[in-house]
Amino acid sequence: MRKIAAHYLITSDRLLNSAVVSLDDEGVITSVEENVADIDSLCGVEFYNGVLIPGMINCHCHLEYSYVKGMIPAHKGLPVFIDTIIDIKKRNEVSDEQKSSLADIWDHVMYNEGITAVGDHNNNDYVYSVKKKSRIHYHSFVELFDMDGKTAEETFSWGLERVKTSLQYGIEATISPHANYTMEERLIRLTGGEDVLPDGRFADGLCSVHFKESEVLGGPEERRLILNSISANRTGVLLVHCIYATEEDLSAARDKFGDKLTVVPCPLSNLYIEERLPDIQLMKRMGLRIALGTDSLSSNTVLSMVEEMRCLQEHLNLPLPEVVKYATENGAVALGIDDWAGTIEVGKKPGLVLLSDVDMSNMRLKAKSKGRRLI
Ligand SMILES: [Zn+2]
Repeated sequence: MRKIAAHYLITSDRLLNSAVVSLDDEGVITSVEENVADIDSLCGVEFYNGVLIPGMINCHCHLEYSYVKGMIPAHKGLPVFIDTIIDIKKRNEVSDEQKSSLADIWDHVMYNEGITAVGDHNNNDYVYSVKKKSRIHYHSFVELFDMDGKTAEETFSWGLERVKTSLQYGIEATISPHANYTMEERLIRLTGGEDVLPDGRFADGLCSVHFKESEVLGGPEERRLILNSISANRTGVLLVHCIYATEEDLSAARDKFGDKLTVVPCPLSNLYIEERLPDIQLMKRMGLRIALGTDSLSSNTVLSMVEEMRCLQEHLNLPLPEVVKYATENGAVALGIDDWAGTIEVGKKPGLVLLSDVDMSNMRLKAKSKGRRLI
């Protein structure tokens, strides 16, 4: 059993002062106290200078692209980005072992910073061994796009095999469409779950799709193609990026998916590729659930949820408890793991993270603010 204390604690969007969290040997929270006197000198209590938050939830990543770090120039827009990554994949100069060992390194980096769960897109099997031994909870979104020489039905069947492989490794997995500009409509409808294979197989569970990431690539049909193709029966729908999503786009999504919908900006990646952030104020006004992702190292220099929060604070002046909620509770709800993760509550096992070097008088993350896993 451990007792951990700090001057501040943020859970959901609430700020507690002088808090002590007790946990059993399994990391399950047994009590949360606030306004505790003499908090830095209690017997049997570990005291930390900073802010305690729950383990963070990275709702959008492609761990398998960790080897692409630094290979794609910033600020060139999505079309150039996609062409470059296709070229890198074609050249195939990095072995699966190297890719896997880089993914492994970054998995550890994420864990140590305090990331507890990741919604991770993949379509290669080599990352499953990394995810299997990781202490992070992964949900694999098997991401499909048109494949040379394959029909939509064949590609979809291939994706279902990838899901099976992930499940054999003990990692939750579901099928998802990549984006409307890389897929014919039949494949989007199969991967979204609106169409069913003749033998009765179909996509269900969580769905995560890149949406409105580029004005050029998505085109005027993007909203119809994506939103009409994803079944309202999916257990949750993550619309990732939404950089160019209008009120009409987001209303249509909300009308179809209701409370199953989460929007997932990836601030640093959005700036890296498109030099633009999604309209977070609009998302807030519409009452949408906002979670955050790091995206991959092909469009980011780090996989750090603290850096994503800091970026949002810097550009939008949002209070710290609000961005912490995006990075923790909202992500846990989006990935369907809020029964054990995302908030510091009795009975949950969310992990415990210390944010250090925070400007508490202004409630802002600073350049040197860091996240460190305590539990
Ligand atoms: Zn992505």
